[in-house]
Amino acid sequence: MNEEILKLNCNQLREKIRKGEIKSVEAVQTVFTQIERCEAKIGAFLSTFKDESLKKAAEVDAKIANGENVGALAGVPVAVKDNMCTTFGATTCGSKILENFHSPYNATVIEKLLAADAVIVGKTNLDEFAMGSSTENSGLKKTLNPWDLSRVPGGSSGGSAAAVAGQMCFASLGSDTGGSIRQPASFCGLVGLKPTYGRVSRYGLVAYGSSLDQIGPFAKNAADCALMLNVIAGHDEKDSTSVDEKTAALNDYLVNIEKHIEGLKIAVVPQLFEGADSEVVAAVKNAIEIYKKLGAQIVEIQMPYFEYSIAAYYLIATAEASSNLARYDGVHYGYRTKNPSDYIEVYSKSRAEALGSEVKRRIMLGTYALSSGYYDAYYLKALKVRNLIRSDFTAAFQKADCIMMPTSPTTAFKVGEKTADPLQMYLSDVYTIAVNLAGVPAVSIPCGFDNKNLPIGLQIIGSNFTEEKLLRIAKMFETQTEYHNRKPQL
Ligand code: GLN
Repeated sequence: MNEEILKLNCNQLREKIRKGEIKSVEAVQTVFTQIERCEAKIGAFLSTFKDESLKKAAEVDAKIANGENVGALAGVPVAVKDNMCTTFGATTCGSKILENFHSPYNATVIEKLLAADAVIVGKTNLDEFAMGSSTENSGLKKTLNPWDLSRVPGGSSGGSAAAVAGQMCFASLGSDTGGSIRQPASFCGLVGLKPTYGRVSRYGLVAYGSSLDQIGPFAKNAADCALMLNVIAGHDEKDSTSVDEKTAALNDYLVNIEKHIEGLKIAVVPQLFEGADSEVVAAVKNAIEIYKKLGAQIVEIQMPYFEYSIAAYYLIATAEASSNLARYDGVHYGYRTKNPSDYIEVYSKSRAEALGSEVKRRIMLGTYALSSGYYDAYYLKALKVRNLIRSDFTAAFQKADCIMMPTSPTTAFKVGEKTADPLQMYLSDVYTIAVNLAGVPAVSIPCGFDNKNLPIGLQIIGSNFTEEKLLRIAKMFETQTEYHNRKPQL
């Protein structure tokens, strides 16, 4: 196996492939050797496409040899979370109800990756329907953290994070409804970006909480995230919630990535540090000191409604989920119960047999919150709280360019540690969830390690459509530190 290839990041690999110094076929072969070596331990993938990947790589190599134009990710092996529809392989969403579902169309992000000549080597494991924070809710397999195989990779996009951290691909896509990109990025020592709601098309992303869901990249560093965002961002007429360029101009996220932000103002919320582990707090404070040395000014602010975000989220997300998941009825597609006695049983038994307990819990919660008599007290109230949380962010961005806080209160926890208590699991997203309620973008970057050698994440939150600035702020940190270059021993 070519260790040197695995050490490269996306930007380096694509340059070398483009110059013909490395063949894409060689990169893909190397990745599959690594998958054969590590996947049995880590369990990042639900499906892999070796033959198809080698074929695509050979096509890219041939185009380059002929001097033809190639896309921005030409020949680079990437992976996607298995809640994005693909015409190749199954699209399972980590659920038994979709285990054999084959999509007749590609999600827009998949079309964009293919148009950029990326090589999609596999689809990654997730908490069933993206509901969870550890990937332990997957109905199909377990994924472990490459930094410590007794620990979870985070979730719900745990497979996409573990695949990059395990060097089984060079970047990947996840989806983030309440933290599912940022928290696993933090647990696996990666850069993970949740774009502004509307920046990336959700067409072909299996819906969980439609007003919160957003697709984004996992990568080894900020510039790789920028490269991935360049490929996937943009208006899509197939997704009416995707934003057009008149509303928010599309940036080239990569061209200015090296340029520091002059006069950077960073907001911090002192109270929010209280709930996190001491080593996490120390690493985040140390990171803020590094920004200070780079000339940043720190502004202390209050976000009085932040603490209500978990409560509001678990009403809004479950309400939307209960409606979105009504389509899995045993009739249209997906799993159908054997020998039902009537049509009611087709519906009830198919769902009872093929959906996992967390998904059922959320459907029940959401149905309850939306039911007449409770709608005003729960769902409507949660929407009002959502507006107040948004106003906290609006006020913050009048004073600063970004807000910094931990991504997660802890580093990666042990497998099984939180499965018995859903509330404990929900709390692992205390710092990420408000961001989805407000719709703003945020990135998690590696900012240190605890005494068990587990990565710690710093969350940097920006105002709407400031991904370019956020990635430049992330890059500033990388110029001063080496955390993003550390790799797990496998
Ligand atoms: N952990 C949160 C949940 O379970 C967020 C998941 C996500 O972002 N998809 O809903």
